[in-house]
Amino acid sequence: MNEALFQFIWQYSLYRVTGLHTVEGEPLTVIHSGRLNKDAGPDFLEAKIKIGTTTLVGNVEMHIKSSDWLKHGHQNDPAYKNLILHVVYENDVPDVAKNTPVLVLKDSIPAHLISKYAVLMHAPQKLPCAGQHSGVKEITKEAWLSRMLAERWEQKLADWNVMLENSTEDWRNLLYWRMAANFGFKTNATPFLLLAQSLPLNLPVKQRENLTQIEALLFGQAGMLDEDFEDDYPRELQKEYDYLKKKYNLRPIPKHLWKFLRMRPANFPTIRIAQFAALIHKSIHLFSQIIETHSVKEIEPLLDVTASSYWDTHFQFDVAQTRATPKSLGKTSIENIIINTIAPIQFLYAARQDTHALQEKSLQLLEAVPAEKNNITALWEDHGWKAKSAAQSQALIQLYNNYCSQKRCLECTVGLNIIRQPAIQAS
Ligand code: SF4
Repeated sequence: MNEALFQFIWQYSLYRVTGLHTVEGEPLTVIHSGRLNKDAGPDFLEAKIKIGTTTLVGNVEMHIKSSDWLKHGHQNDPAYKNLILHVVYENDVPDVAKNTPVLVLKDSIPAHLISKYAVLMHAPQKLPCAGQHSGVKEITKEAWLSRMLAERWEQKLADWNVMLENSTEDWRNLLYWRMAANFGFKTNATPFLLLAQSLPLNLPVKQRENLTQIEALLFGQAGMLDEDFEDDYPRELQKEYDYLKKKYNLRPIPKHLWKFLRMRPANFPTIRIAQFAALIHKSIHLFSQIIETHSVKEIEPLLDVTASSYWDTHFQFDVAQTRATPKSLGKTSIENIIINTIAPIQFLYAARQDTHALQEKSLQLLEAVPAEKNNITALWEDHGWKAKSAAQSQALIQLYNNYCSQKRCLECTVGLNIIRQPAIQAS
């Protein structure tokens, strides 16, 4: 038994609720457990209980041992003066909370509930509830995944809101920054974002008709043109960039920020920068198109770009390949951008406009994209929980990273159901 489990048992009334008595022998009924308080002060606020014939409303404090009351110094703390109940697992020192009724719960807690919890907490596998969650109803799990997706977006979009405020509410700019970060995918997201932030959007947009100039600006600002090249193409970019750099007083980001190691060449930042340049070159009014489009079929062509022809035979400057392959962004990358940039920006835009119907559409967009395939979704799949769409794979990633890997099973609906199940069957 620990405090977190003890509070969980109280919060969800997982003890035998009939036949309760205070240590003084008065019958006790819990009408409402109260609201869990995660801040300073008593553990549960605004609880409602009945002792004998008297109904009481107020705060409840809980301890594993009654002597913890003294250990925590509550006897000197005015916040604990007007409790309606002191709930303890064991009453090792009687009458510590003067004039406060005491309820001892040890004998009212089913033993299998504690062992279920122990199994979760001591599970050696990465997913503590592996082999147990299949007993939880599908509808319960799906509702929990919806909650996880909302939580994921809340966390993500809090940062985006700050970015939006920093760019004087310029949505085009937010899309440009977020899209750039997404083109960096996991490994080069940060340098890609720094690159976009170092290059005001109006500059590449001004050169939109001229792909070479857009590439010169992007590769130059990426710090990748400060070398002696052999090929004509990078030399030309260099020449263009030197001119534009002086004209617009630009400062490139350091080249060493870019990572190439252990990457598939098709994902090299050079290829991604060239594809990003192609997107800017191709796009007219990309933001309004993206905000107004809610079907995967219509969005895919907007993002279907290919790096310029030099990259057909190169993954890096001056290193030629014998086989020519056009470097298109590819379906999986496009889906990744819909999941990580387009759907969230649509959701944020709809939320800021207070249009619930549009928020729904951004969620539906995510539901129309196939589930992602990565280590986390594979782990869930191995244990019998297969995401049906990107909305669910995003939710399962959130669940794994923020709950399962930290063993926060007591804060998880699936955990609650697993721990509660035998208690329900037994009652
Ligand atoms: S947090 Fe929930 S889903 Fe994750 S292992 Fe625990 S009970 Fe299972």
